[in-house]
Amino acid sequence: MEYKDYYKILGVARGASSDDIKKAFRKLARKHHPDVNPGDKKAEEKFKEINEAYEVLSDSDKRRKYDTLGPNWQEQFGSNFSNAGARRTSTYTYGTGGRGSTIDFDPNNAAFSDFFEALFGRSGFSSSMGTNGTRADMRRRAGDNIEQPVEVTLQEAYVGGTRTFNIQSTEVCPTCQGTGEVAGKVCATCEGQGIVPRNKRIQVKIPAGVDNGSKVRVAGEGQPGIGGGPRGDLFLVISVKPDPAFERKGDDLYTDVDVDLFTAMLGGEVPVLLPDGRKLMLTIPTETQNARSFRLGSKGMPRLRGEGAGNLYARVKVVLPMHLSSEERRLFEKLAQSRSTTARS
Ligand SMILES: [Zn+2]
Repeated sequence: MEYKDYYKILGVARGASSDDIKKAFRKLARKHHPDVNPGDKKAEEKFKEINEAYEVLSDSDKRRKYDTLGPNWQEQFGSNFSNAGARRTSTYTYGTGGRGSTIDFDPNNAAFSDFFEALFGRSGFSSSMGTNGTRADMRRRAGDNIEQPVEVTLQEAYVGGTRTFNIQSTEVCPTCQGTGEVAGKVCATCEGQGIVPRNKRIQVKIPAGVDNGSKVRVAGEGQPGIGGGPRGDLFLVISVKPDPAFERKGDDLYTDVDVDLFTAMLGGEVPVLLPDGRKLMLTIPTETQNARSFRLGSKGMPRLRGEGAGNLYARVKVVLPMHLSSEERRLFEKLAQSRSTTARS
């Protein structure tokens, strides 16, 4: 992890006043603002850096903490910080019971650097490092996380929804409080194990847009903690059942649409089914060729992170008429004849 010189980033002296810092920040922020530099990744990075520097230097507590560190800050704090990067998991947090409080964290779009997070914590509040960790806290440990595979249909992934699960974990034996014995004898309830099985039905909200490998976190439904520590979390690991009607590539969907010969020739409207069962009417122009694709904007999978949805591509599959009557056959022959006459002239 790289030490960041916030003073250098803002171009101010170490002893700069808060007014000077504010002035320097405003000037730089105007220059590197993404609105002024659309599509410029470098400017975007610079803008983030400037914001981070200002976040620290404009806050007297943060600035004081930062000032106590030199460029050899990592040595001062030893290995305590080495895990700071490991906390970056890309999971989606939902409360149980579908309350739906989302903490959606995209590791590629982190607002602050590893350095900042190591120093001030993920949310920017001061890290608890060193000052208030008592011995009792050290023994307290959160329970293990549980991962449970869950299969959803494409329709469920498209609309999202609430699912009820039976989850199996353990809990501390209520008879012996986890010691495995009662009055010097082996606890009969848990047979000395200290834990008993726990079955629980929970309702979980599956967010729209999940894909294979998406993880839905259910806080506090993992294994019990140790020494009074909190329970671990349950992670539902999603797999989406293949759907015969839709092919999925990222957030885009592909589907075939049957079009009868006459509509393909003369133009018209054909119904396109969406994964949630809704039907859209797609207007196709005259002389639409087989396998031509039409893009239905934002009718694909909802984006799990961010706004909007992918596209739905409807591919025309021309269906030729069958079981022609003799009258129809005669008309086709006439058409064929007229076509070849036209072609010759
Ligand atoms: Zn027991």
